[in-house]
Amino acid sequence: MNRTCIGCRAVSAPEGLVRLVAGPEGELLFDLAGRAFGRGAWLHPEPSCLMQAARGGADRAFRQAFGIVPSQFFQLFRDAAERRALGLIGAARRAKKLEAGSSAVAEAIERGFAELVIVATDARAAASQAFLEPWIASGRAQAFGTKASFGACLGRTDTALLAVTEPRFASEIRKAIEWTSLPEPKAPSARAARSISSEVG
Ligand SMILES: [Zn+2]
Repeated sequence: MNRTCIGCRAVSAPEGLVRLVAGPEGELLFDLAGRAFGRGAWLHPEPSCLMQAARGGADRAFRQAFGIVPSQFFQLFRDAAERRALGLIGAARRAKKLEAGSSAVAEAIERGFAELVIVATDARAAASQAFLEPWIASGRAQAFGTKASFGACLGRTDTALLAVTEPRFASEIRKAIEWTSLPEPKAPSARAARSISSEVG
């Protein structure tokens, strides 16, 4: 069933939208896995749609004043994206679609199984290894997380490199990682604000 984006009001298939729910304490939560209970609203994971949702779209959709400013709303989304990416990494590991550690990742690359390589952001040494160069140069390796966050979701310490070996997991994880840095649109410039006020005035 198609849904209306609470940002731009366009109607889309659910695959192109993310779900927002009002939690039990009246707080807003992004439900990026699409499984949370509660009344939901939908929006495009696009900066302009998040901005419109933050500026009243969410309040109208839930008939509730959340008292949230755009920067908080964007941070909620980025935090949810980070949890989603780590959750998918754990799920890929359990499904045996993820290799962890330098030698296992190097082997997956060499044998052509790697779909996505993830380098912990606190692992400069790992990122400089020769077998990663073409992956980093072509943008197929993504920097995300920390050795500690990988350790927590994989149950092993000192893991700086991951390779996802299945295309669907790879594309979902890549999307979630990109969302962790979704930019908040800049406030209108002084010039734009002037032209708006001259239209109104
Ligand atoms: Zn939208």
